[in-house]
Amino acid sequence: MRALIAVLPGDGVGPEVTKEAQRVLQAVAERGDHDFTFREALIGGIAIDETGEPLPVATREAVTHADAVLLGAVGGPKWSDPSASVRPEQGLLGLRALLGVYANIRPVAVHPALAAAAPLKPELLENVDIVFVRELTGGLYFGQKTHDRDASGASTRASDLCVYTTEEVERVVRMAADIARARRRKLLSVDKANVLATSRLWREVTTRVMRDEFPDVALEHALVDSFAMHLITTPSRFDVVVTENLFGDILTDEAAVLAGSIGVLPSASLGDASTDGLRRGLYEPIHGSAPDIAGKGIANPAGAILSAALLLRHSLGLTDDAALIEAAVSETITAGIRTADCVGPGQRACSTADFGDAVLERLFARSASMH
Ligand code: NAD
Repeated sequence: MRALIAVLPGDGVGPEVTKEAQRVLQAVAERGDHDFTFREALIGGIAIDETGEPLPVATREAVTHADAVLLGAVGGPKWSDPSASVRPEQGLLGLRALLGVYANIRPVAVHPALAAAAPLKPELLENVDIVFVRELTGGLYFGQKTHDRDASGASTRASDLCVYTTEEVERVVRMAADIARARRRKLLSVDKANVLATSRLWREVTTRVMRDEFPDVALEHALVDSFAMHLITTPSRFDVVVTENLFGDILTDEAAVLAGSIGVLPSASLGDASTDGLRRGLYEPIHGSAPDIAGKGIANPAGAILSAALLLRHSLGLTDDAALIEAAVSETITAGIRTADCVGPGQRACSTADFGDAVLERLFARSASMH
């Protein structure tokens, strides 16, 4: 298969982890006789430094023509002045809007060998395997904002409007239900319907879509406050979870604690499927630019490499290759090869590149045994 992949390394550890993910994609291409062309472009702080804009025209053009986009991370202290009119995060929001990606998929599986790295009791983490589907382009983050000040300039009042339309809820629920159908046929919808009007709309639309279009998938509803507690006390109960933008942002960071390190979790942001069933998407690890460890070559590239696996699965339809990468990452962790964020007492930490090498080695060994 031929594919054009836009690579946007971004800031901080972004380039370090993206490099490893790209090496893995290249190796998959060579093994499988695929022809992947990588087109690198600027985003975030580095794009501001070089062009004055967080999402330059050349980057817009590169992603518009690409079959999929692989992103590192954006931001850092150098560009974090809140009064600045141009900020790295604008590049990310602009990119999501440009690609029309309205659902953020975040699988959270706990690797048994990493259970000890999490702050929870290991027995709570057995069999945890959740897929979060977060609505990404609506709700509070995109509603109208006001900020009033008095004559002295002091803040007096501010507001963020939360708006959801029926269509925005329908499309993300359909995507979550499709994912649930391919797993354990269980979908949990999280809202705050006892208080918020948008949540009552969310619950009504979700109930209708599931009843009419997915009668084979069991639907449950939960209120966000109690779900936040159950996610930590009984995480293995949950399978596919769909929720709105703000709740999803917070709950998925909470869920990252289950996995032992934020460095191991991937994400896919997807829009509508084309006629061949594939979706153009944006793939990135869930972590940020980690300025505290950037430039040291010690960042965990697992989240970025697993994001590359999601890219193969959702945008290119290469499900076997995606599974091959996931197995190679899992075997690497099982073998005790860990970056500093995942090591236990007395264990030696490897570098970002060492982890990438170890994944590639296992990838080659697996694909050789399949031929
Ligand atoms: P962060 O995710 O960058 O870092 C949080 C902690 O996790 C840090 O201690 C960091 O060292 C560690 N960490 C993160 N990724 C790691 C990895 N791959 N391996 C090992 N350890 C890792 O979050 P933050 O510190 O709140 O934010 C730093 C910057 O990143 C900010 O400018 C923020 O706006 C930006 N950010 C960007 C994105 C994105 O690009 N999607 C997401 C979140 C934060």
